[in-house]
Amino acid sequence: MNITCFDAHTFEKEFLLKAAQGKHQIQFLKLQLTTETVELAKGADALLLFVNDDGSAPILEKLHSFGIRYIALRSAGFNHIDLVKAKELGIRVANVPAYSPYAVAEHTVALMLALNRKLAKAHNRIRESNFSLTGLVGFDMNGKTAGIIGTGKIGSVVAKILHGFGCHLLGYDILPNMTLAERYGLKYVDLPTLYKESDIITLHAPLLPSTKYLINEETIKLMKNGVMLINTSRGGLVKTSAVLAGLKSGKIGYFGIDVYEEEKGLFFYDRSNQVLQDEILAQLMVFPNVLITSHQAFLTDTALRNIAETTFETINAWAEGRESPNELTLDAKQD
Ligand code: NAD
Repeated sequence: MNITCFDAHTFEKEFLLKAAQGKHQIQFLKLQLTTETVELAKGADALLLFVNDDGSAPILEKLHSFGIRYIALRSAGFNHIDLVKAKELGIRVANVPAYSPYAVAEHTVALMLALNRKLAKAHNRIRESNFSLTGLVGFDMNGKTAGIIGTGKIGSVVAKILHGFGCHLLGYDILPNMTLAERYGLKYVDLPTLYKESDIITLHAPLLPSTKYLINEETIKLMKNGVMLINTSRGGLVKTSAVLAGLKSGKIGYFGIDVYEEEKGLFFYDRSNQVLQDEILAQLMVFPNVLITSHQAFLTDTALRNIAETTFETINAWAEGRESPNELTLDAKQD
């Protein structure tokens, strides 16, 4: 197949080439798929897209007019693709449903620990030969209550790790997983209870119309003073302006994010020579109790290998006229 890979990153290229086994012609483009770049897809049979490529209806129509019938997403999330339009046009879309929940869960816990034990501040001090401990007091994770919103593949691994730390676990999910209750003592509660009782709240639910701005002024009001809020799921789950107010008032004690509602065009890129135009992000960056990573939770060698291999299993299936088990249907529930 002739394949065009949009938004191709250096970190993934070798994994994709290895998984392709020389069976396909691949054109790697650094550019994201947008209305401005869509013409570059001409001539391809299939596209490989990433999380911030635009798969909205007008773009899908263009792709269809170019004869493109296959889109393989190099991600689990598919909230950026209009599946209804794709189905209508006969464009088959597949994702990588699971590549390593451990990668994301472990990064989630890394954010918790780094914020709690103030590792960024400590590291910067040491580099200036400041060996003082003033202002570095953390808390024991053991005995704290962690609320996990979304206890699917990633949330379950977070539950397992935090259970190992001796945390009490609360969970909320529209489809509870009772194995977590049996194994780790996780107690399913309603959202207000989770907000009220958790010292740490971590988000692992998909971004859907029903979960957009799950964390907002009203829900923040219910939380404990000094709560730690972690989001490695999707930026749109959190109304960042409300969190900013919560940080200023001290209601939110720690905020760790790997995703941001306005991350598109920023995260994944070196913008160090430009003036940051996003005022909310600029404000967040000056808080000592905020830790931001740029959508890197998935970034382990295991995850990259799995993403590349699953992507080319799908492409090979399509090339041979077979169906891929990873094709998304209209009742796909994840984002
Ligand atoms: P998953 O489908 O296994 O789990 C999601 C869980 O959320 C499911 O149990 C589902 O029932 C639950 N859910 C759905 N709607 C809900 C709601 N309204 N309230 C509460 N729970 C709800 O998905 P996963 O693999 O665990 O991934 C979780 C999220 O992590 C994905 O949606 C994706 O956006 C994000 N993610 C981020 C990265 C990263 O690099 N930061 C990487 C992969 C995935």
